[in-house]
Amino acid sequence: MENIIFIAPPATGKSTQSKMLVEKYHYNYISTGKLLRKEVSDNKPLAKDIKKMIDTGNLVSDEIVTKLLEVKLKKINGPFVLDGYPRNISQAKNLELILKKLNLNIGHIIYIDIKYDEAIKRVKGRLICPQCNKVYNIHNNVMKPKHDNICDECLIKLIVRPDDNEEAYKKRYNIFVNETKPLLEYYHKQGLLSIVEDSFYPDEAFSKIEKIIL
Ligand SMILES: [Zn+2]
Repeated sequence: MENIIFIAPPATGKSTQSKMLVEKYHYNYISTGKLLRKEVSDNKPLAKDIKKMIDTGNLVSDEIVTKLLEVKLKKINGPFVLDGYPRNISQAKNLELILKKLNLNIGHIIYIDIKYDEAIKRVKGRLICPQCNKVYNIHNNVMKPKHDNICDECLIKLIVRPDDNEEAYKKRYNIFVNETKPLLEYYHKQGLLSIVEDSFYPDEAFSKIEKIIL
């Protein structure tokens, strides 16, 4: 199996697809968002710097993200799926340096595409568990909680994320699309990019991904 990088607008089934890859093909799942949160929650050396950036409303610097990513990549064995990074060409170049150092490479860049109308429908149906962060969707039979508004695992009440409203989503979507356009061109030129149309049914999108990676 080759290493994969997922790039996808918010509200796609990217994390579901990652989970399926982990379960079926034993990929290592690396999310830079998770790495940052873990650094803070475990009070590791960079926690203070990360918290300061977040508290002042700044994005966490590339320097910190790449440092954490390098540490993580050194630790894993076998193929990985990377989620949340890179978001721009400068990060893509940082990643290339790290991978070269560790003698690793990128097999596939997979862009999971979603139409705006479809995305907004999902956003409006989305509920998350405040404890385990599992994402549910009331508009999707596969992703519905077993009992209305209750997490299957934690048995506590699900919540709507404060930024899951149309205004906020539209803003995030547009920022994402503008930001990643040059990045997609960059990977397309290298022959690494595949585009998968997301589906409301995770299995459908997953079989398209399997066609690319197998
Ligand atoms: Zn839960």
